Amino acid sequence: MSDPKDRHDSGVAAGNDSSTARSNRAVEPKNPSRRDAIRYLIGGAVAAACPIPASLLAGTPQSATGTPQPGTSSSAGSVAAATTPAKLGSESNEICHRVRDGEQFNFPAPAKEYEIIIVGGGPSGLLTSYKLRDTNFLLLEKEPRFGGNAISEQWKDQWYSTGAAYQMDDPLEALCREIGMPIYRIRSVDAAIVNDKLVPEFWAGGLWKSSYPDAVKKNFDKFFKDMKAMDIEANKEKLDNMSFAELLKPYGPELTAWFDNFGPNNWGARAADTSAYIGADSVNWGGGVEPDRYTWPGGLGRISLALSEHMQKLAPERMHNKATVLQVEQKASKVHVSYIENGEIMTAAAKAVVVACPKFIGKKIVKGLPKAQYEAMDELRYQPYLVVNVCSNQVIYNGSYDTNIPAPSPIVDFNVADWVINRDNKEVNRPAVLTCYVPRPERERSKILHDDYCMQLGEQVVEKVETWFPGAKAKIEEVHIYRRGHPMYVSAPGVMTRVAPEVRKPLGNIFFAHSDTEGGISEYSTGLRAAERVTKEVTAALGKQAARASVAVPAV
Ligand SMILES: Cc1cc2nc3c(=O)[nH]c(=O)nc-3n(C[C@H](O)[C@H](O)[C@H](O)COP(=O)(O)OP(=O)(O)OC[C@H]3O[C@@H](n4cnc5c(N)ncnc54)[C@H](O)[C@@H]3O)c2cc1C
Repeated sequence: MSDPKDRHDSGVAAGNDSSTARSNRAVEPKNPSRRDAIRYLIGGAVAAACPIPASLLAGTPQSATGTPQPGTSSSAGSVAAATTPAKLGSESNEICHRVRDGEQFNFPAPAKEYEIIIVGGGPSGLLTSYKLRDTNFLLLEKEPRFGGNAISEQWKDQWYSTGAAYQMDDPLEALCREIGMPIYRIRSVDAAIVNDKLVPEFWAGGLWKSSYPDAVKKNFDKFFKDMKAMDIEANKEKLDNMSFAELLKPYGPELTAWFDNFGPNNWGARAADTSAYIGADSVNWGGGVEPDRYTWPGGLGRISLALSEHMQKLAPERMHNKATVLQVEQKASKVHVSYIENGEIMTAAAKAVVVACPKFIGKKIVKGLPKAQYEAMDELRYQPYLVVNVCSNQVIYNGSYDTNIPAPSPIVDFNVADWVINRDNKEVNRPAVLTCYVPRPERERSKILHDDYCMQLGEQVVEKVETWFPGAKAKIEEVHIYRRGHPMYVSAPGVMTRVAPEVRKPLGNIFFAHSDTEGGISEYSTGLRAAERVTKEVTAALGKQAARASVAVPAV
């Protein structure tokens, strides 16, 4: 079960690498006095095991005064006192790493039986539970909170995102309306920062006013016209099996630099590692000019929150958090799911199981995967990501919802967290949050386990924000860094047309959801597509099984 590639990728083995830790420790903060004044909080990955030294904390922490963090669950989002480690809501990977490392568990016989068990309560698992709400289902989510990579947090009543930001998908919008969510349109064209200067409405004329040389502006323009003119769908197979960098070559290095940040922001890869289909298609949605884009203060985590509240009201006994699945195995006509909850290992049986966790975990917990399917799952890559929320006591920037920055900036993009409710608010003396996206290369996965590494990036973010918006630093009170090791699968060449179709093949009565089964881009809407597909597959299979069951009912 344990293989060397995984150990390297997951970063846990490397997390104990003292040389990495040493080199991180050796780096002094650029501006120690400012580090004292700005409070940094780190969450995600192994937060419980990697506190920020209390000496780095300054000011009176909120929890010290007993102020709760509204909207966050008991285990997440708490701002710790200066004397204790400061941490945000976190992913807990300890048990999954034990599975990855080949630990053998003794699984008991099934004690309960369900029609359907769903593994993973991220968007895809939640949406599957919603679609299958009339069945006798059980959803198992390893984290204290449902929502996976789409979770919102709060600071001083300001919602902010720790991952997914916005959408423009019609079926997802319809579903949000169905569960009673108001829809907020973004109505803003993305800005850009070029050579450290803000360029408003980059894709709606801003490009021509930017500091790019004329020849570069013409290259941008030509690229977009060429891609729009191309029949991308007719060339899907060919494009998906070549790299985007190849397609970008004739347009000069500035275009590649643009997509070397835009790609990691949106689909987990620089141009060289991106499917040319994904890159070419992005001209149809990537400019921020679509009128129908929607979000909420705090991003798409608000959908996860609304969905999980809805489901918990509807079927509280079926929605289990802090329940980590260790093994999924087809046994005769039933599927056995073994999991750990409240420190106890349990097994439940089901007629069908939906695996809605990512495949870097799925390939480890599902027994009996055919070689080709295991290898396809193994081929999927995942990009580590830091989301750095800059929390200020005054507004730093309120000029556009989304702002893109080309490589080599560590911030690839930032959002105004409360844009859809405060875009017209001229009051600047109010708490505000800028959500800064800081994806990291896969080779740095192990480093994000080190607080010093995250702190350095947090400081770089603050410095960048100060460069772009002079005076910003003095307004910043806290920097909340949310780290995740494998949150975004890489839309690499071949994933859409070759890898994903193999990954999502049902195995007996085990079905595969999660956004990484669909190819394309890691999105909330991709999670919905996976949920819709798997719901049809499960319904069809249960129909057949019900017919078979009238002939013989195999024992559990
Ligand atoms: C920084 C960032 C920005 C993004 N921005 C956008 C955006 O603007 N718009 C957009 O649409 N999308 C965006 N996304 C993508 C979006 O967040 C994902 O596509 C979405 O979360 C995928 O949902 P999922 O259910 O497929 O997977 P996940 O979110 O990965 O959820 C999987 C769930 O499975 C659980 N799990 C794993 N292993 C186990 C186990 N053994 N037992 C039980 N549970 C388990 C996990 O804890 C998790 O909750 C962004 C993602 C990131 C990281």
